Amino acid sequence: MSSQLNPFEISQRQLDEAAAILGLSPAMHAFLRVPMRELHFSIPVLMDDGSYQTFQGFRVQYNDARGPAKGGIRFHPDETIDTVRALSAWMTWKTAVVDIPLGGGKGGVICDPKGMSPGELERLSRGYMRKVAHFIGPDKDVPAPDVNTTPDVMAWMMDEYEVITGRHMPGVITGKPVHLFGSLGRGDATARGGIYTVREAANLLGLDLQNAAVAIQGFGNVGGWAAILSHQMGMKVVAVSDLSGGFYSPDGLDIPAIAEHVQRNPRHLIEGYTAAGVKQISNPELLELPVDLLFPAALENVITAENADRIKAKIVGELANGPTTPEADQVLFKKGIYIIPDFLCNAGGVTVSYFEQVQNAYNFYWPIEEVQTRLEAKMTTAFRAVHEMAQAHRVHNRLAAYLVSVKRVADAVATRGWVK
Ligand code: NAD
Repeated sequence: MSSQLNPFEISQRQLDEAAAILGLSPAMHAFLRVPMRELHFSIPVLMDDGSYQTFQGFRVQYNDARGPAKGGIRFHPDETIDTVRALSAWMTWKTAVVDIPLGGGKGGVICDPKGMSPGELERLSRGYMRKVAHFIGPDKDVPAPDVNTTPDVMAWMMDEYEVITGRHMPGVITGKPVHLFGSLGRGDATARGGIYTVREAANLLGLDLQNAAVAIQGFGNVGGWAAILSHQMGMKVVAVSDLSGGFYSPDGLDIPAIAEHVQRNPRHLIEGYTAAGVKQISNPELLELPVDLLFPAALENVITAENADRIKAKIVGELANGPTTPEADQVLFKKGIYIIPDFLCNAGGVTVSYFEQVQNAYNFYWPIEEVQTRLEAKMTTAFRAVHEMAQAHRVHNRLAAYLVSVKRVADAVATRGWVK
């Protein structure tokens, strides 16, 4: 059962399936199954009470054949090296599927940031950078925000790197605040990119998105923006949910009002919102609504063998990472539900991170329209490549996305002459 495997073993199994179809040589397959490099280190931090605490940190560079490694840094109490390894593998496939000239990496620190003061977090962030500074860089490995790491954390890390190197080097890290060398358009990039892929899928299926019924699980950075953008594009968002529960109205919800409510709510949740004709629903109920589009945008493993048969959406746009289990994948495929797999659907974020790096390198910053036009081109091209691969091999879209990515990475590795 996949649920008993650790995430790194799951990522290896996914690769194994693609490698068999692509006919990779045993040497290439073995090389792509493991990270190229890993750094494990300890970070001593002066705490506010005068004591010192030592935190365990990691940075994994999974593969850089197609360009510098790219991937976020997570601060989490349950962080493990195998989670970081798996996420670095998935970053490798994600940057390859959108065909940006980057590889895959990931980092993490075992810590509980919710229990740390801003000063302690700043010292931890700067300490992390001191440990990785000689291992990363704009032409080696470029970190980014991830779970519990914010634009402020990115700014501290960038500043520490510039102190160490004595040079202006904002491209060492992305997801920085816009006023400190960040890119316009990063905030909604993941949701926007996902919606571009959904638009392509709808065209293929002959589905008119005007007034199409949409359900969205999660109202955070990604789900909240997905709701706002879907509403702006003329779709009818009939259901939204978050940690606190969900709301449903078959006539469509007032998304700007809910977004404003979430802004005002101290916990940034939809709880407490009321409006005529809106009924409360649970998260599992939301997933099974009769809608045209379903965006899981919160958690992993929410569409499982248990509920897959009751999913009624025509298109599932996986904005969250890993929302569908492998068993559920098979069920949805047989039912003819069109899945846009996570590392394609949510690749808009890393794509605009790449644009941030490009702007940093040129020290010239683009208007928002340029960011969005370029994002649209990347996402639609990637969608078409995956769709064509799925047709050619008669496989579901997730496997097709792996086939596209793994082939691109393997071709780069082979052409470099590392492994044939
Ligand atoms: P976030 O923390 O901003 O929002 C998460 C949302 O999920 C919140 O609305 C929260 O209330 C909700 N949630 C948490 N637990 C829940 C539960 N048990 N049931 C229902 N809802 C629950 O996070 P985010 O940045 O929006 O990320 C959401 C997903 O998208 C994650 O899987 C993340 O890995 C993925 N993702 C995010 C980005 C990005 O750019 N932020 C990029 C790629 C993938």
